[in-house]
Amino acid sequence: MEQAPWQRTAQGAGLLGADGRLAPTIFAEMTALATKTGALNLGQGFPDEDGPRAVLDAAKHAIDHGRNQYGPARGAQELIDAIIEHQRRFYGIGLGRGDVLATAGATEALAATMLAYLNPGDEVVVFEPYYDAYAAVAALAGAVLVPVPLAAPDFEPDIDRLQRATSPRTRMIIVNSPHNPTGSVFSEETMRHIIRVAERRDAIIVTDEVYEHLVYDEQHVPLASFDAARERLVSISSAGKTFSVTGWKIGWIMSTPERIAQISAVKQYMTFVNGAPFQPAVAVGLRLGDEHFDTIVASFARKRDILTRGLRKAGFTVHEANAGYFVLADAAPLGVEDAAELSRRLPELVGVVGVPLSAFARPSRRDLRSTMRFAFCKSDDTLHEAAARLAGLKDAALQPTA
Ligand code: PMP
Ligand code: GLN
Repeated sequence: MEQAPWQRTAQGAGLLGADGRLAPTIFAEMTALATKTGALNLGQGFPDEDGPRAVLDAAKHAIDHGRNQYGPARGAQELIDAIIEHQRRFYGIGLGRGDVLATAGATEALAATMLAYLNPGDEVVVFEPYYDAYAAVAALAGAVLVPVPLAAPDFEPDIDRLQRATSPRTRMIIVNSPHNPTGSVFSEETMRHIIRVAERRDAIIVTDEVYEHLVYDEQHVPLASFDAARERLVSISSAGKTFSVTGWKIGWIMSTPERIAQISAVKQYMTFVNGAPFQPAVAVGLRLGDEHFDTIVASFARKRDILTRGLRKAGFTVHEANAGYFVLADAAPLGVEDAAELSRRLPELVGVVGVPLSAFARPSRRDLRSTMRFAFCKSDDTLHEAAARLAGLKDAALQPTA
């Protein structure tokens, strides 16, 4: 029997059991487990501290000053203008007002873009491990996901494999750099290869850059700064990570006016518009002085270091995170084979929650099986406490439960 669209979507994300039962996403499952057990939640990627005061105050001000009704379909004018200024200021990229569309987070931006362009049977190249929404929406569209593996230690794609993964049916390549969950930043050379491959296949490149301001050891280079990519590129970002407001769900798409109109044709029937008072507040954030952005980077780099040290001390093999909210820790040296099983037991063993890396990949990726992803977007106190608790792991009974 043909699957219903919701079944395809859930199956695409690995959430449909053989018995037809639906599982929650790994993020929802692990946050619920943390709430139930009182464990420290280093699973789902959301900060436990507020971002810049000026941004929060601007939202309150907007609510108090009548910004509570539907706004313009493309987004509040000051947000669109702030995005244009931001692209010029940080990357030297020139955009016009018709090149930008505000969305309900990067999630809606991705969904609207994918649904706007993918027909059943079209192939979508992703780099694996990948953010779950890519697989879910590709499946909803009836498209075929084609994963190109990223492997430790550097999690850069092998260009030959990328070439081989494409075909005349390749319609889209989704790039996520800085990358969730590995914290890697693709090199400029890799970006150039991706653009060349996309040109050869006449594919659209969708770039998810929600971690653009959380790059610690190098510089973020957006795909849009490569001229060759312009015509086939849809760039996506979001305020959630940069300003620690993941619940606001203010994202945006930048592309050519033609593509923005095409994607809007879908997006306007998903949410039409969203977050009226939050859009001007994000505009304030994007216009903050350089020192605010420097502080954000410095504070997250410090958090990364606290957690990385703690995990190493606890006996994990930790992969350096150059960017983002997350660090990958391989539990193999602790005798663990299955990180999914360890993730479910970790709250009871030491009072910490993380997520298994396998949730971001197909089961065939055996090499990722013993690795967990931990979020470091938490207060320093929480991270120090988590490190202390994880140190108890060596003594905990790590044998699988019967
Ligand atoms: N892309 C990536 C890589 C993410 O990690 C996330 C969520 N953290 C999103 C997209 C979704 O972003 P938003 O919350 O703005 O919808
Ligand atoms: N992006 C967040 C993460 O990777 C989760 C977002 C969600 O719960 N869907 O943890």
